[in-house]
Amino acid sequence: MMLEQAGQVLQKYFGYHEFRPGQDQIIASLLKGHDTVAIMPTGAGKSVCFQVPALLLPGVTLVVSPLISLMKDQVDGLNSQGIPATFINSALAGTEVRRRLYDISAGRYKLVYIAPERLETEAFQAALQRLNISMVAIDEAHCVSQWGHDFRPSFRNIRPFIERLKVRPVLGAFTATATNEVKTDIAALLSLVQPDVYVTGFDRPNLSFTVLRGENKQKFIMNYLQTNSRQSGIIYAATRKEVDGLYELLLKRGVSAGRYHAGLSDEERAQQQERFLYDDIRVMVATNAFGMGIDKSNVRYVLHYNMPKNMESYYQEAGRSGRDGLPGECILLFGAQDTLLQKFLIDKSVEDPVRKHHELRKLQLMVDYCHTPECLRQYILRYFGDTAAASECGNCGNCDNAGELVDITLDAQKVFSCVYRLRERFGVTVIADVLKGSKNKKVQQLGLDRLPTYGLFAQRTIPEIKALIQRLVATQYLNFTEGEYPVVKLTAQALAVLKNEASVWQKETTQRKLEADDDLFE
Ligand code: ADP
Ligand code: ZN
Repeated sequence: MMLEQAGQVLQKYFGYHEFRPGQDQIIASLLKGHDTVAIMPTGAGKSVCFQVPALLLPGVTLVVSPLISLMKDQVDGLNSQGIPATFINSALAGTEVRRRLYDISAGRYKLVYIAPERLETEAFQAALQRLNISMVAIDEAHCVSQWGHDFRPSFRNIRPFIERLKVRPVLGAFTATATNEVKTDIAALLSLVQPDVYVTGFDRPNLSFTVLRGENKQKFIMNYLQTNSRQSGIIYAATRKEVDGLYELLLKRGVSAGRYHAGLSDEERAQQQERFLYDDIRVMVATNAFGMGIDKSNVRYVLHYNMPKNMESYYQEAGRSGRDGLPGECILLFGAQDTLLQKFLIDKSVEDPVRKHHELRKLQLMVDYCHTPECLRQYILRYFGDTAAASECGNCGNCDNAGELVDITLDAQKVFSCVYRLRERFGVTVIADVLKGSKNKKVQQLGLDRLPTYGLFAQRTIPEIKALIQRLVATQYLNFTEGEYPVVKLTAQALAVLKNEASVWQKETTQRKLEADDDLFE
């Protein structure tokens, strides 16, 4: 019933025929009076989730938003759709503020946008106390958390303000940030009462995802650009130096390329960005500095020359392809050095030990993405907590991979027993050395060449063995300890396999190539 009405409002005011997945649940939850946390990526259609209930609830909905510059546009947009909305921010004169408050209290508006800073003034708070507020929608709610990337102290005013209201409105918190820390903070610091949490809209069905390990990255990119020479795309690299190196290489080979990173002058950056937007150049080689707020719809591919530091960054960058809804290709070129580089960058930039631990954990989940044999889209959706994750997507490197499911129990047992014999005290390199039967100094000094698992994989290359270990980490048979020298441990799953109580089946990969040629510009 409620949803039926909501559907009518959606059609009447917004002109849409149906809700996107998740929108209906969020709206129903708010209409039932449940505090609600909605985690949706940008562009997924979050506004409708509070605007529709605002029109159905009695009284007014307060929308707290930090994006002051967008407020007027949003309100103008609503007004043109016939929705009575207004905003109050510091750009307005005192008399205008008073006039609007009067009109609000006279019931002339259903939606009122305010900036959180406004709540700092006592007079303003007092004026709001007199209104009949049914719902408070908090946009960019992660700003309340110090764990987010965008902490704003003014968000800490929201909770005391709500607590002072005589009638407690229903609260809706909206954000694109889905980490557990942020979710917990949002609930606690905004004083939500047993909120329903919905994570939705993360799937981008028109994007395909692929991870390539052990490619010659340069060769791959040259080939790729040749076969996609008419299309526009972005290549992300981890450092300025790598951007410059790749950019120069592309120019030398006659590719119409631009570059973008924080080491360039403002002027050059603006110019490069402009040329890309207007299709003067086809390929942008860039660090993660590129892309904030650019909205180019016809980006057909995003290649990652290096693995980024976490899944949030990866998905955001890869998501810049296919904005127009047409197919977009997202390919990540993984090299073992990428992990070391990201570790190094985290070490250098993060001091707080708790935060460092957190960043390293996120990095490991990124590395796992690069090694998982399962559907990459499912991995992504699960990472963001999106419950809409269906079965295998059929549109990612692992789903497309024609490889059969094979029983790799024996190989896995060899790895596990080696880890076991090493008493779970060593990292990937030593384990791989022992399995390979390497004669290096460390192995000999420690007498590891006398272990029964020594040389079990003598026929394989070290990169192959390491990739197998990483894959067993990605599928939770093994895990790493924290710290500078991560040690590999067995999980309960692995112990069951060692005891022959379980077997390991994984999709055969076609990639057994070596991880060579990675250090291109050294
Ligand atoms: P954000 O989540 O970034 O705030 P918006 O609320 O601005 O996203 O919505 C993104 C786009 O999706 C807008 O153009 C909006 O009109 C559109 N949209 C939202 N809901 C629907 C729907 N149910 N059907 C079709 N389009 C929708
Ligand atoms: Zn898939």
